[in-house]
Parts: sequence; structure tokens; C-alpha cells
Amino acid sequence: MRCPNCKDNILIILVYKDIELDFCPECLGIWFDSEELQLILQGDFNEKRNFEEVTSEEKPKKCPRCSRYMKKAVSKDIKTVLYDVCPVGDGIWFDRGELEQLVERYNELPGAKSFLTWLAEVFHYEPEGETKNKNDNHIERR
Ligand SMILES: [Zn+2]
Ligand SMILES: [Zn+2]
Repeated sequence: MRCPNCKDNILIILVYKDIELDFCPECLGIWFDSEELQLILQGDFNEKRNFEEVTSEEKPKKCPRCSRYMKKAVSKDIKTVLYDVCPVGDGIWFDRGELEQLVERYNELPGAKSFLTWLAEVFHYEPEGETKNKNDNHIERR
């Protein structure tokens, strides 16, 4: 399968607890086949219920499975992030960082903690502790 972002890049397979995830080493996006996320997070998480389609101006990406343009969707709990979902239900694409954010939001689910730990290893990702201080370097001009 090709990466929806990088196009020429072939997604590599990562295995998490017997579940195969497709990952782009270039842009660090990750693809979940239908219901894989549900399988990982367990508990009260249901892809169909947790995601809802929205209209957006953002450029559509192509589904790595069927090459149809994917639809934009938001999670019912995080309305600010646009996810890409296949129109015929092949799965969901997460751009870099989107997945961790989502899993953290649902960290009370039985499978979430160990999955976050695994993601941290894969992405060398550190949870956001502090907000970045924008150093205003005022350069004085004369
Ligand atoms: Zn990519
Ligand atoms: Zn598809």
C-alpha cells in the first residue's frame, strides 16, 4: 500500500499484539484497517460511533486500500482534528501526532496505556508536558 501523503512511499507493516498496522517511515502517518483501533483500545470504543464525517476544504487524500478519496471525519470528543476515513469503510488514516492525541483522550480504555507506550517507542514520542515557550527574540535595530 502506498502512503496517502507521500504517494511513492510504500507503507511498512508494524505488528502490535498480532495486529498489523501500516506505517509510513517518511511522514510517520499510520493506517488502521477497519475495526483495528477498536480491537486495540477495547472497552467502550466503537469506530462508527466515535467518528463522524464532516465537510472540509482540506485536500482529500486517497485511501491506501481502494484509492478512493477519503472523507474527513472528527472524533466526537476531539472536534478540532480532521481524520481521513475511507468512504467504503476500509479504515482510518492518522497523520503524525493525530493518533497519540486520540489515544490519550481515551486513556481510560483497557488497551490504551500499553498502546501509548508502544507508540512512544515507535515514534520516539514524548507526551506534551509543557507548552512551548515562544522565545521572542527581539532584535533591536538601529
Ligand atoms: Zn508518508
Ligand atoms: Zn478504501
